[in-house]
Amino acid sequence: MSIDVRGVSKRFGDFVALDDVSVSIPSGGLTALLGPSGGGKSTLLRVIAGLESADSGSVHIEGVEATRLPPQKRNVGFVFQHYAVFKHMTVARNVAFGLEIRKRPRAEVAARVQELLELVHLSQFGHRLPSQLSGGQRQRMALARALAVEPTVLLLDEPFGALDAKVRKELRDWLRRLHDEVHVTTVFVTHDQEEALEVADEIVVVNQGRVEQVGTPDQLYDEPANDFVMGFLGEVT
Ligand code: ADP
Ligand code: MG
Repeated sequence: MSIDVRGVSKRFGDFVALDDVSVSIPSGGLTALLGPSGGGKSTLLRVIAGLESADSGSVHIEGVEATRLPPQKRNVGFVFQHYAVFKHMTVARNVAFGLEIRKRPRAEVAARVQELLELVHLSQFGHRLPSQLSGGQRQRMALARALAVEPTVLLLDEPFGALDAKVRKELRDWLRRLHDEVHVTTVFVTHDQEEALEVADEIVVVNQGRVEQVGTPDQLYDEPANDFVMGFLGEVT
């Protein structure tokens, strides 16, 4: 099982954002989409999520043909750089949101929210408003919220980009630990080589709308597929 992207192209006007992309993202892994800004990483993630429809090609998620399914039918959880939190709702209600709109029984929702808040070490903060959390805590809340509906895949677009260096480092460890605990297939976008190399099991290098290479951090270092990959890994951000 995996996320299978086959022959996906996406244009915005004359601009080719994704150029016949095929890639398999393994089930249960923690995978980074890595590459320079404007390369098509977010577009690829959004096509997987169903937030953007491809002009051609197909997407299968864990064996299910998802190409024409709307996002809410794909059972994916999202975390974005600037996550859209509900400012007027408490942390607990933010986490509960996806369960409430699915009309899950109230007792089940309460128990699940408690479990999730514990998972991200926010059990003492359920009654607060998001504005009363630090940036790092807010992204942990976003992680809990994305996991609430037990998604088949968790998709994160530059989830730590807006945070300062220390909190970013902390959240990297969080993502790694959460993944090891929950084992949900996870794909995150980053332009930061170090972040990808440290956190991911597998890296998909995306550049100019194409996949340059797929491999483990070691494989990318030991056998870069081309000059682009070698150059990009050597750059310091
Ligand atoms: P990345 O996430 O790797 O930085 P994106 O996937 O966001 O790259 O964007 C790839 C290219 O597609 C960029 O040049 C961007 O300007 C363009 N693009 C993305 N979304 C749109 C859109 N909705 N309309 C027009 N151009 C877009
Ligand atoms: Mg992007």
